[in-house]
Amino acid sequence: MYDLNQLNSICSKCNRCRLYENRTNIVFGEGNPQTDLMFVGEGPGSNEDRLGRPFVGKAGHLLDKMLKAIDLTRDEIYITNIVKCRPPGNRNPQESEIEKCLPYLRWQVKIIQPKIIVSLGSISAKVLINEDIKITKDRGRIFTKGKIKFIPSLHPAYLLRNPNAKKDSWEDFKLISKTLKELRSR
Ligand code: SF4
Repeated sequence: MYDLNQLNSICSKCNRCRLYENRTNIVFGEGNPQTDLMFVGEGPGSNEDRLGRPFVGKAGHLLDKMLKAIDLTRDEIYITNIVKCRPPGNRNPQESEIEKCLPYLRWQVKIIQPKIIVSLGSISAKVLINEDIKITKDRGRIFTKGKIKFIPSLHPAYLLRNPNAKKDSWEDFKLISKTLKELRSR
């Protein structure tokens, strides 16, 4: 079985879908490989593509603040995306691109073995939980699949465009914190 570094190295040479054509860097993911808590967004944006790191720029800064509010830092979690290369013009990743890239995320989950996965945004929730999820209705609920609890929440980029939704997101993050504490106390 690969470790995360080996998988990252394989991923960095990937040309399984056309997103490889315009990427500057793969955005594989980063954080604590021993964590119980993973966050999965949709795909890299321009800052992420430039730096090869997930959730940098304004959305990343907001995510850091939300984590801090529940006494967490990036060093305690793992963050990645559904697709590892930037879709041009920040469009949504296409179904075929998601399908080609998903094995990397599945491997990451297999290696890290998180107890909770927080999907950030609609696409991540539909891919990870089920395609009928309506993010604004179903966010902040727990969906258990196998040994993992999935909690869909809003994407920080959406929160930047819709600041009124931040209160909903805060409820989600309180739920994430509570669920994490309960799982750790077992
Ligand atoms: S998005 Fe995923 S499948 Fe497509 S080229 Fe990048 S790493 Fe490979």
